[in-house]
Amino acid sequence: MHLTIREHVSLAPLTTLGIGGPARYYIEAATVADLREAVAFAGARSLPVFILGGGSNLLVSDVGFPGVVIRVQITGVHAKPQGECVVLRAGAGEAWDGFVAYCVAHGYWGLENLSLIPGTVGAAPVQNIGAYGREVREVIESVVVFDPLSAAERTLTNAACLFGYRDSVFKHGDAKQLIVMGVSFKLSLTPRPELAYKDLATRFSTPGVASPSLAEIRDAVIAIRTAKFPDLSRTGTAGSFWKNPVVTIATLESLRARFPEMPSYPVDATHAKLPLAWILDVVLKAKGYAKGNVALFHQQPLVLVAGRGATCREITAFAAEIEARVAEQTGIMIEKEVLVVA
Ligand SMILES: Cc1cc2nc3c(=O)[nH]c(=O)nc-3n(C[C@H](O)[C@H](O)[C@H](O)COP(=O)(O)OP(=O)(O)OC[C@H]3O[C@@H](n4cnc5c(N)ncnc54)[C@H](O)[C@@H]3O)c2cc1C
Repeated sequence: MHLTIREHVSLAPLTTLGIGGPARYYIEAATVADLREAVAFAGARSLPVFILGGGSNLLVSDVGFPGVVIRVQITGVHAKPQGECVVLRAGAGEAWDGFVAYCVAHGYWGLENLSLIPGTVGAAPVQNIGAYGREVREVIESVVVFDPLSAAERTLTNAACLFGYRDSVFKHGDAKQLIVMGVSFKLSLTPRPELAYKDLATRFSTPGVASPSLAEIRDAVIAIRTAKFPDLSRTGTAGSFWKNPVVTIATLESLRARFPEMPSYPVDATHAKLPLAWILDVVLKAKGYAKGNVALFHQQPLVLVAGRGATCREITAFAAEIEARVAEQTGIMIEKEVLVVA
């Protein structure tokens, strides 16, 4: 065995919230052989495995994780032209925004609206990341995984990934164990800007900027996000703490009777998505609400921020209070977007 296996490694610095206890064992896997060894190490000790990316969507328990944390560090980007498109295979350990920057610099359309999302390429399909009118599922061709059960690699097509809103097959059942090694994206060589989302539409409605370039869209997304999200180098956060709730049209109508201004986005013929930030701001008047070391960010209440010294326990209690208040005021049970690791 040539892997470096570290013990009692603090997970807090490996997450953007900066919270959480240690991993009993911690392994960085840069190749499929490393993954095989790491999984065998855990299996031999009957220990649970947790796959860590950039730690930007996690709330780690104060007591840490009692098993083996494997951080996938498989890197590399390979591009293959295919007619009007290009197929890019990126290693799971690539930094997401570095990959987006690479695509923008090379004139590949499709990921620019997802600029500046923290984390890794490997986590992108797990959460089906999305922003500014785009979801990553729209451009994922396939996902290559290591299956610990068979100790073999296999490829899942886009359809097999069962993508949904911040959801995929990787969050359910046996597929939770699959380790993403690489993702193939099919991007366009011809412009296909998606500017319908309000913030972007406003930005590009200026006369003279009729057809923005890839770089202009990326710059706009970065500027919008920088104004909206806290500075990760100074503030602990995992981005949006909860998902926007999807409700039936009947529920929407009864809420509209009480809150006529409530915005909504159509999902299908019978469902609509509600912006939780609006509910937290207008219904709960909770923008900037703080308790101890935890707060809802003053610019965007969907974003929970944690000050120095905050604990998982404190955040969990704060979140439970917000969840109860939303349920009380609207009847909606909101769901965490952030994954709790315990
Ligand atoms: C400031 C901020 C802004 C954000 N904005 C957005 C946004 O606009 N849109 C959005 O969708 N998300 C957003 N996020 C959430 C987060 O960045 C994404 O969910 C991101 O994809 C998580 O990547 P990660 O590598 O940090 O994953 P982690 O947080 O390390 O892990 C997240 C999940 O993915 C799993 N995972 C990670 N790597 C692998 C792998 N190789 N194989 C299998 N499973 C794996 C983990 O086990 C875990 O279940 C934001 C977060 C922050 C802090």
